Amino acid sequence: MTTDAPGFEPVFCTIVPPHLLDRVARSSDTAKADRARRTLERDATERHRRREAALVRTAVAPPAAPPADAKPRRTVHDAAHGTTLPGTKVRGEGDEPGADATVNRAYAGLGATFELYLNTYARYSIDGHGLPLDATVHYDRDYNNAFWNGEQMVFGDGDGEIFLDFTLPVDVIGHELTHGVTQYTANLTYAGQAGALNESLSDVFGSLIKQYTLNQTATEADWLIGAGLLAPDVQGVALRSMKAPGTAYDDDVLGKDPQPADMDHYVDTEEDNGGVHINSGIPNHAFYLLATELGGQAWERAGQIWFDTLTGGDLATDAGFADFARLTAAAARTRYGAGDETQAVLKAWEQVGVPTS
Ligand SMILES: [Zn+2]
Repeated sequence: MTTDAPGFEPVFCTIVPPHLLDRVARSSDTAKADRARRTLERDATERHRRREAALVRTAVAPPAAPPADAKPRRTVHDAAHGTTLPGTKVRGEGDEPGADATVNRAYAGLGATFELYLNTYARYSIDGHGLPLDATVHYDRDYNNAFWNGEQMVFGDGDGEIFLDFTLPVDVIGHELTHGVTQYTANLTYAGQAGALNESLSDVFGSLIKQYTLNQTATEADWLIGAGLLAPDVQGVALRSMKAPGTAYDDDVLGKDPQPADMDHYVDTEEDNGGVHINSGIPNHAFYLLATELGGQAWERAGQIWFDTLTGGDLATDAGFADFARLTAAAARTRYGAGDETQAVLKAWEQVGVPTS
């Protein structure tokens, strides 16, 4: 892996994408606009810090088989509404739950993510070597975001008017930690189609972590990212919908969900690193179509095919949608043969207009 190659751009993903906060910052509601602007400024500072930190990153060894007694090593810190990371340690691995529900949710979400990767894909934490999982809650005041900074998770409490506590949706935690898995494996560039694939993989495994936690089938799942995060007055159900991209919200302050569901509606834009949180709707929808076509629990066959593609070593850092689609078909064939699974993969990509050959 050549993460130190010239031009390496570290992923700094905030769960609420910049295009959405930009829109709120232009709102006529000045209080909401001010808080969105402050969140954007905070994100810019952290993004800069991430870029500096990435310069000293070293390559990682290939993942090892997990030990028989593999368990997570979690630490949750409290920033007490400041911005110093990691803050004060409030819960370590094996400690009993405390009175702060936010701390308990963060701890549980880190554990759920660890468990899905370990029990389903035999991956020992996000780096494949038992990396400790650290999180900080109560970051800043009215901070409308959550992020993975390459080393740890950080959660805001939301301003209560647009966003609520960012530890509420477990898929947000799974999304952010999956950026860590991608960073340690295919290391997809965070721009254009490779960036949209990076985002989509985080949505896919984020949603699978929620489905795994709730023990849902593909049909029972809501396929939403960030359900429960929008404040009650906001017109919307979540940040994104894998089932119906473009329908997650339509609100005076937030604007309308801009995600396309297929290549006919691909969005050419300079914003958001070339629309990484926008065009991710296309591979997201392909995964949803595959999972519902196969039925049962989506983390099993559909998730396995995506995991094999992400970690198989053939996915280039600058892969486009068609490269990824072709590799998912190859991964399905390798693991399951030419039957139902492979046919379902080909059909899903055809439905969203991405070629597989
Ligand atoms: Zn992301």
